[in-house]
Amino acid sequence: RLHNQLQELKGNIRVFCRVRPVLAGEPTPSPGFLLFPHGPAGPADPPTRLSLSRSDDRRSTLTGAPAPTTRHDFSFDRVFPPGSKQDEVFEEISMLVQSALDGYPVCIFAYGQTGSGKTFTMEGGPGEDPQLEGLIPRALRHLFSVAQEMNGQGWTYSFVASYVEIYNETVRDLLATGTRKGQGGECEIRRAGPGSEELTVTNARYVPVSCEKEVEALLQLARQNRAVARTAQNERSSRSHSVFQLQISGEHAARGLQCGAPLNLVDLAGSERLDPGLTLGPGERDRLRETQAINSSLSTLGLVIMALSNKESHVPYRNSKLTYLLQNSLGGSAKMLMFVNISPLEENVSESLNSLRFASKVN
Ligand code: ADP
Ligand code: MG
Repeated sequence: RLHNQLQELKGNIRVFCRVRPVLAGEPTPSPGFLLFPHGPAGPADPPTRLSLSRSDDRRSTLTGAPAPTTRHDFSFDRVFPPGSKQDEVFEEISMLVQSALDGYPVCIFAYGQTGSGKTFTMEGGPGEDPQLEGLIPRALRHLFSVAQEMNGQGWTYSFVASYVEIYNETVRDLLATGTRKGQGGECEIRRAGPGSEELTVTNARYVPVSCEKEVEALLQLARQNRAVARTAQNERSSRSHSVFQLQISGEHAARGLQCGAPLNLVDLAGSERLDPGLTLGPGERDRLRETQAINSSLSTLGLVIMALSNKESHVPYRNSKLTYLLQNSLGGSAKMLMFVNISPLEENVSESLNSLRFASKVN
């Protein structure tokens, strides 16, 4: 409850920045390139600011003058430096996840260029190492265990999961099985019934889940479905949004109470721009159309969030499939958290700046 009160004071939109580590085999950034997180006061406070500075040493060798430095500062609700572990990140959001049990719709997004750590954050790292598990398995395990505790107080919870991919403004089921696996029929976003506010995805599977193992099986199935699609369409997974939705319903039969809300965990499409210097061959037109669809749905998301935080009367939910699907979980009493994932590499600096600027606009 304290958490919810605190959040109401701060507003319902929070933005966290996460910088991934430099991976084995990647070039070490030059000494002039620095990404440094800093806390508000003492060393005990978690970092909330990220500064990016870069000295232009090429120019200085030409002129013999000291290297000029450009520095950019950004503020967030929290910054996770490269050494941050999955459990530290989860600890920071477990209360937010839990508030879906109390009836607050929750949306958690991962935004950033391809390779910046979005999927690592949402689903987890490669292999079976439990320490590398991402937000989705951790969030569900947490919900199952809190629901179990609340069972002792007379509450019965049920959970239904769906997992879809939005690619080039078409929706596809990541939980499709059998003949629909890998391609599936196209799905549509529709009202759940006449006059209903609730939205549903036609042709998509809605699967009741009650334990960790069932969730792991669904994530595994989604990975297989993505792999099948990837052979058909290069790089598709980095160009699509993956939306994991959990419908939560709770009931206290003795007191005649009901509650529950959706929890949405969204791995967004890579935010990278198309190289402006690129000349397109005839076969690359599709690629351009894709990039435009991604950029326009990401900018629609930004516009929706900005309209909500400025309390504007018109919120352009209908301008993209993603925001339409999430419209009941954005705004109103809903709580939103966006992770901005940042690459630590020098070569990615302009995309990192773009991501940081996008994030400061929605914050
Ligand atoms: P994206 O989904 O944004 O394209 P990924 O999550 O696939 O990026 O991350 C790119 C690579 O970096 C993967 O090999 C991933 O395992 C690794 N990686 C990302 N974040 C971290 C992290 N915090 N710690 C260790 N490895 C990471
Ligand atoms: Mg990814």
